[in-house]
Amino acid sequence: MSGTTAGAPRATTAAAVDDPPSGRSDLAPSGLEPEGLRLSFSRVDTYRTCPLKFRFGYVDKLPSQPSPQLSWGSSIHAALERWWDQKLPSPPPVEDLLRGLYDGWDDAGFEGMDRDEKLRWYGHAQQVLRRHHARHASSYVPAMATEAWFELDLGDDIEVVGSIDHVTPTPSGGFGIVDWKTNRKAKTRSQVAGSLQLAIYALAARQLWGAEPDWVALDFVVPGARVTVGRHEIDTDGAVTAIRQVAAQIRSGEFEPRPSPLCGWCDYRGECPLFEGDGPDVPGTALVELKRLHRRRRRDQGRMAELEALVRSRLGDDALLDLDGGA
Ligand code: SF4
Repeated sequence: MSGTTAGAPRATTAAAVDDPPSGRSDLAPSGLEPEGLRLSFSRVDTYRTCPLKFRFGYVDKLPSQPSPQLSWGSSIHAALERWWDQKLPSPPPVEDLLRGLYDGWDDAGFEGMDRDEKLRWYGHAQQVLRRHHARHASSYVPAMATEAWFELDLGDDIEVVGSIDHVTPTPSGGFGIVDWKTNRKAKTRSQVAGSLQLAIYALAARQLWGAEPDWVALDFVVPGARVTVGRHEIDTDGAVTAIRQVAAQIRSGEFEPRPSPLCGWCDYRGECPLFEGDGPDVPGTALVELKRLHRRRRRDQGRMAELEALVRSRLGDDALLDLDGGA
């Protein structure tokens, strides 16, 4: 919640690239040399999700597959970027937003898809953008910056790069930071406050504009909800610590697999030792199922404790004696 421990700022360059999980595009080419580590939010997030997936994608550089979800998110993002980037004094018409979708449509994830099915995806994207326009046209303020590229030096030869989707001026003379998301559901306020990505952006803002944002927000364009938190709610020191920890683990070659329900969408399952073999006896499948059952058991045990306390307080201990019998 306080000031950063990041190292000295470095010169910035303008470029509209980033490598977010939505797969918009990849980072500028850079290896993961043991000395100089070039990370991004996406890379750190991938490592924290599964270190082995990180190794497959960023160290071994195995190719990933395009998907409808990634291409759809990328297309919406391209349209938003173009619309907000005009920085006109009054809001450009919705047709501009839809034209941006048409011109920037990423077809890679839709190859081989039935035409009607593809049109459904396209129509949904139009609907999402129309809603975005309706939400923002009446309170429109020209953007201060879009896709603002940064290169943040955290010291110890660790650099974090990325680009900030949308920076908007605030009435106080400051600015707010927005990242557009194409998730189906919005996150909660506490999840947004704990966002590593927004903490990185708050650090980057200080480097780019010499000031911290008044607020940061994730704008969930599909449900049409913006979740905003104040700068004081963002833990930039914690973010720097987390990134340094990931960097240390990468440097020491810690790339263990970390199975989770997300394995179902992992491009590298074919290479993953946990998913060798067929059927339900595959260790990765068993581990994911086991984690799910453990989560459910913890939830059930918590609820059982609540119910037992309630029954005990109303009916006494004897009411709990025969719970397992008489079935
Ligand atoms: S399949 Fe799962 S455990 Fe294996 S690399 Fe992918 S995310 Fe990691």
